[in-house]
Amino acid sequence: MCNGAQMFIKALKCLRCGKEYVPEKNLYVCKKCGGKLEILYDYDAIADKVDKKVLVSRQPGVWKYLELLPLVDKKNIVTLGEGGTPLLEAKNLARELRMKHLWLKDETRNPTASFKDRPMTVGVSKAREFGAKAVVVASSGNAAIAVAAYSAKAGIDCYAFVPAEAPAAKVAQLSMYGAHVIRAKAKGKGDPCYKLMQMAWQCYGWVPLPSCGAFNPYQPEGSKTMSYEIVEQLGWHVPDWVIVPTGAGTLLSGNAKGYFEFEQLGFIKSVPHIVAIQAKGSAPLVKGFKEGTPPHEIPTWPNPNTIAGGLIDPYPWDADTAIPAIKRSKGTAEVVSDAQILEAEKLLAKHEGIFAEPSGAAGLAGLRKLLDAGTIERSDVVVVEVTGSGLKDTKAVMQLVKEPPTIEPELGQLEHLIKQK
Ligand SMILES: [Zn+2]
Repeated sequence: MCNGAQMFIKALKCLRCGKEYVPEKNLYVCKKCGGKLEILYDYDAIADKVDKKVLVSRQPGVWKYLELLPLVDKKNIVTLGEGGTPLLEAKNLARELRMKHLWLKDETRNPTASFKDRPMTVGVSKAREFGAKAVVVASSGNAAIAVAAYSAKAGIDCYAFVPAEAPAAKVAQLSMYGAHVIRAKAKGKGDPCYKLMQMAWQCYGWVPLPSCGAFNPYQPEGSKTMSYEIVEQLGWHVPDWVIVPTGAGTLLSGNAKGYFEFEQLGFIKSVPHIVAIQAKGSAPLVKGFKEGTPPHEIPTWPNPNTIAGGLIDPYPWDADTAIPAIKRSKGTAEVVSDAQILEAEKLLAKHEGIFAEPSGAAGLAGLRKLLDAGTIERSDVVVVEVTGSGLKDTKAVMQLVKEPPTIEPELGQLEHLIKQK
């Protein structure tokens, strides 16, 4: 594998004003307008170096796609064995939903049990390449946990700004990884965690690694690898639909870029229809999509409320890349209720043996709704992304499970119980 992947990055380009930059330390947003930067690659040069055969010959995992990732030298890779997750054929669930071809991309298998390990292995590796002493993250959820774990592995200090009401279990996990956890109290407009993250970045030079792509162009690139894997795992076939649980739109944007790149490289002839699923109680991106609001004008969602905590992003930071990607792929966007999410969580566990957190099960809830609406045909090939493990959020499912019966070790009592069933 090459040590000179930098030759494949052409430039960083501002998505707002179009200005192009050479990648450099401390350049994370456009210097001219503060806009989001996107990484442009030299796909002709990549195509000369990598083909399908080369990719198939490599070990599974995020870093097998090194040429399509923004690292200069592979010695800077910080890995915990992320990616290479199974694409499972969900035959039981397909029968239940009267479908023919249903696949689940099981991202619960990643090192910290969510897909966020893909972006954060890239984000922390790039921080190491830039010689960072510290990284800073604004989030109480899976993104912060992944940043903390990869920083621990890299020996880089990690500061995590979490909401004042962040659950104790998540604070505990972050602290165990050695992150400096600081609760942020709301004051004035805007997200206090993001405000503190930006302050820390500007004043101390800590590398910003938020869960969205707005303040760091590198880490969202890791999410492309999920799409590369899905295509490879389907024998270089493209599914009709890919269903993505969506918060700020970061995962969906990364996934979409992966398909568009494989199409540009000639590895596939078309891209799947990409679907964003949000929770009804926190759905700024879906509302913006349906109402045709320009992405930068989508208002912050007031008082978000859903059991799918991982999908709560009141401001959809990456709607400017996600909404055009949905349109370009001829996809769609839909909302699901908390009851539909919990039902999907139960179905995944009961029929396919996968325990997802509510936000990880939202994609399946969305599929059921779109099948009923006739948007997705029951004969279509569908991939549902299961983004995070149920062990991360057991509180939500406690309302679904019954207290098990207690008996003494006596056959009579056991027989009585079995007859009751
Ligand atoms: Zn700009």
